[in-house]
Amino acid sequence: MEYISTRGGASALDFEGVTLAGLASDGGLYVPREWPRFSEAEIAAMRGLSYVELAVRVMLPFVTPSLTEDDLRDLCTRAYGRFAHEGVTPLTQFDQQQWLLELFHGPTLAFKDVALQLLGRLFEHFLKQRDDHLTIVGATSGDTGSAAIDAVAGRERVDIFMLHPKGRVSDVQRRQMTTVRAPNVHNIAIEGSFDDAQAMVKRMFVDDAMTGRFRISAVNSINWARLMAQVVYYFAAALQLGAPERKVAFSVPTGNFGDVFAGYVAAKMGLPVERLIVATNVNDILHRALSTGDYSAGTVTPTAAPSMDIQVSSNFERLLFDCGGRDGLALAEQMHGFEATKAMQLTNAQREGAAALFTSARADADAMINAMSWAAQKCGEVIDPHTAIGLHAAREAGIDPAVPVVTLATAHPAKFPDAVERATGTRPPLPSRVGDLFQREESYAELPGDYDAVAAYVAEHATESA
Ligand SMILES: *Cc1c(COP(=O)(O)O)cnc(C)c1O
Repeated sequence: MEYISTRGGASALDFEGVTLAGLASDGGLYVPREWPRFSEAEIAAMRGLSYVELAVRVMLPFVTPSLTEDDLRDLCTRAYGRFAHEGVTPLTQFDQQQWLLELFHGPTLAFKDVALQLLGRLFEHFLKQRDDHLTIVGATSGDTGSAAIDAVAGRERVDIFMLHPKGRVSDVQRRQMTTVRAPNVHNIAIEGSFDDAQAMVKRMFVDDAMTGRFRISAVNSINWARLMAQVVYYFAAALQLGAPERKVAFSVPTGNFGDVFAGYVAAKMGLPVERLIVATNVNDILHRALSTGDYSAGTVTPTAAPSMDIQVSSNFERLLFDCGGRDGLALAEQMHGFEATKAMQLTNAQREGAAALFTSARADADAMINAMSWAAQKCGEVIDPHTAIGLHAAREAGIDPAVPVVTLATAHPAKFPDAVERATGTRPPLPSRVGDLFQREESYAELPGDYDAVAAYVAEHATESA
């Protein structure tokens, strides 16, 4: 498969190239030149496969020829062997229509593990082949940092430097990062806010003194390989609920639009998807864009579902590209306008293309609490605040009662014990596999909120690229 940029100004790359590059050089995001498509018979033949075998079938068209089928199977076997559930992403039932897809059985209890556990191994595989070295630099306010660290800890040829704002992440979140002891993991507590840490990371990506010596990379959800890995569980869930003979709808707690875009890719590949419901909290730029065509960023309101507290959804650009006729130069102009003014209107083609598959809903704090307590009291299922927003949207969407609706459970409830306890009266315990978090020793550097100090620290501890 060849990959092209959504902004039409970067050269096409193969799968290995897009995995290591992340963002395209023209500021766009990479997408496959065309969507591979499975016939109904091919989808029916996927029923009953193990998660790993299903992953190989679904992803093979995207990774050829950079990976052989055996390479891919080996990487998936190792990545998904770390999950605490044999089914990797098991499905449970709420009621006659509503289902829950549990994506939190990975090592850090968030759905990001599904993609990052594979991405860490892809990095290692390709870097060995090229005899090169990668320096991952990121800033985190919580979840992504721990999933990324776990995914690359101990991997050869990769160093990770994760900045967190000192004293401003929860104890559980900090310990999930700082108790991972591996020589290639470097946690840094920065004086200042998350935005200060993020600004330093951005500066490092354009600092010639750093990029000249190190191959600096990110692990955020603009990386195509992450999206690709998420397509698999849409197939897994739909097959269990009767696909391809029966259509299935999905409700997705959404922030950066990566997870729900993977559902769009599944539909493009032939999976019969009835609807994709984009669930947002009060930070509802996507709900406004999908319902009125107005994509304009406001200020972020902190909520009990912090991974959805966003102003701008980077992966939305991929949908606008695909629905808007795949005109990279026109989209580049539209996105430059958005970057300058923080507002834009969707074109008619973009609106109509999106409306064919997507609906959206917004949940405020009360709706989220009601969904959590309905799940606990009526169905005996304890869910986290992000998942609750998805469930609220799923029940409001007015989907035909004959169509199953699957809400994606993006985090384990034990990651957000206070919010869950407030809504349900029950405090969810941490699963035993992370239960000794508070006994383990922490390790991290403390640095002032000063770019030069951070750059010097990275330069001292990273390995130069070939
Ligand atoms: C990252 C995250 C989301 C948002 O996913 P996107 O792919 O960014 O839309 C939702 N819920 C949880 C728990 C997350 O960690």
